[in-house]
Amino acid sequence: MTSPSYVSTRGRSPLTDFAGTVINGIAPDGGLFAPSVWPRLELDALIAGGADYATLAERLLTPFVGEGLPEGALAAATRRVQERFLHPDVVPLVELEPGLHVLELFHGPTAAFKDLAMQLVAGMAESLLATTGERLLLVTATSGDTGAAAVKAFAGAERIDLVVLHPLGRVSPMQRLQMTTSGASNVLNLAVRGDFDDCQRLLKRLLSETGKTKTTRRVSSVNSINWARLSGQAPYYAATAAKLAEPATYVVPTGNFGDAFAGWVARQCGLPIGDLVAATNRNDALVRALHTGVYERTQAEPTASVSMDVQAPSNFERLVFEATGRDADLTRGLFEDFNKAGRVTLPDEVLAALRREVSAVSVSEAETVAEMQRTWRENGRVICPHTAVALHAARRIERTGPVVALSTAHPAKFPDSVEAALGFAPERPPQLQGLEGQTERFETVDATLEAVLAAIG
Ligand SMILES: *Cc1c(COP(=O)(O)O)cnc(C)c1O
Repeated sequence: MTSPSYVSTRGRSPLTDFAGTVINGIAPDGGLFAPSVWPRLELDALIAGGADYATLAERLLTPFVGEGLPEGALAAATRRVQERFLHPDVVPLVELEPGLHVLELFHGPTAAFKDLAMQLVAGMAESLLATTGERLLLVTATSGDTGAAAVKAFAGAERIDLVVLHPLGRVSPMQRLQMTTSGASNVLNLAVRGDFDDCQRLLKRLLSETGKTKTTRRVSSVNSINWARLSGQAPYYAATAAKLAEPATYVVPTGNFGDAFAGWVARQCGLPIGDLVAATNRNDALVRALHTGVYERTQAEPTASVSMDVQAPSNFERLVFEATGRDADLTRGLFEDFNKAGRVTLPDEVLAALRREVSAVSVSEAETVAEMQRTWRENGRVICPHTAVALHAARRIERTGPVVALSTAHPAKFPDSVEAALGFAPERPPQLQGLEGQTERFETVDATLEAVLAAIG
């Protein structure tokens, strides 16, 4: 097999292979990696012989990886994901009412869907570094879930040091405990005196000024624009399609648009995936872009679905690149303008193409709470606020075929929201029990590059 190559959405980076996308995260020209050609996938071939989740994921990802990983590394990484999930079906599909399904993606080590991709990338990165002998310094900025998933995935990794920047006092107690109690010597938690935007700004500066770290380690990040992370989310769409008699509509609770774009990838490669609906909370830049053609960044507002409080969904650039017919010059122009002005108008033909690919709706805070209450009352199920956003949007769709709402976190990760909506606290799954008694380790730093560099050493 030849190795597939990856282009940048901004067209000014040399081609790279899969390993390059794992280690670098973002293309040198500021664009996002995309495969030069989309491979053709056949659902029957993916599930042949009664394949389990790990086998299906390995088969799906093989044409994207090619020879870009050491022999056996992909199989080991997909097996690792399956083994660390606590449900025998990994991603169980639950039918709430005839034709309305919930896809449970939260049975992993930190009880949020980010485990699926983070565990996979951790496995891949470890195999790659074992062959090159390099060390990697991974830095991530988090408002909660990403940091927890990264700590669980990378704690104890031999050739990787992980630095997690979280805003001091602004993550939930559960999220903080998940990040700070690993006990692993390769994990450094920094509580930044600032907000999430300060953490992201510091991360960007660290990535661009790595020369200033005293180390020879390569510095990278595992945020959601990492292609390997994103592609690791396509397998659960395939696993779900295999369970349904006809292509379903998928409603995806959306922040940075990585999860929804993974569904687009599965469909683009020929799998039987129907309409894709991105459901946002009131941070609705994506919804406004698709409705008005104006993509505009505004101040992110806090909501109950905190992991979706995103002002500019970073993976939107991938869909725009495809909607322009892969015109990298046009894509670069649009996103450079957007980065400068915080606002850009999409050309009519690009907007029309985008609308053929996905639709988007926004769900208010009141609707989110009402959905949590309705699902408890009518279906006897406790759901998290992110899932509620998707399920609310899913119920509004006129059903001509199956509808699947993605459930991205266990409700016990957000006990305060559940208690406020339902009047009782959710039961904790095993992976969220016993955190309170453990020793926490983190350092508090000012929101300056100098302070962060001093802490990293
Ligand atoms: C990250 C996250 C999302 C949003 O996913 P994107 O890929 O950023 O769109 C939704 N729900 C939960 C619980 C998350 O942690």
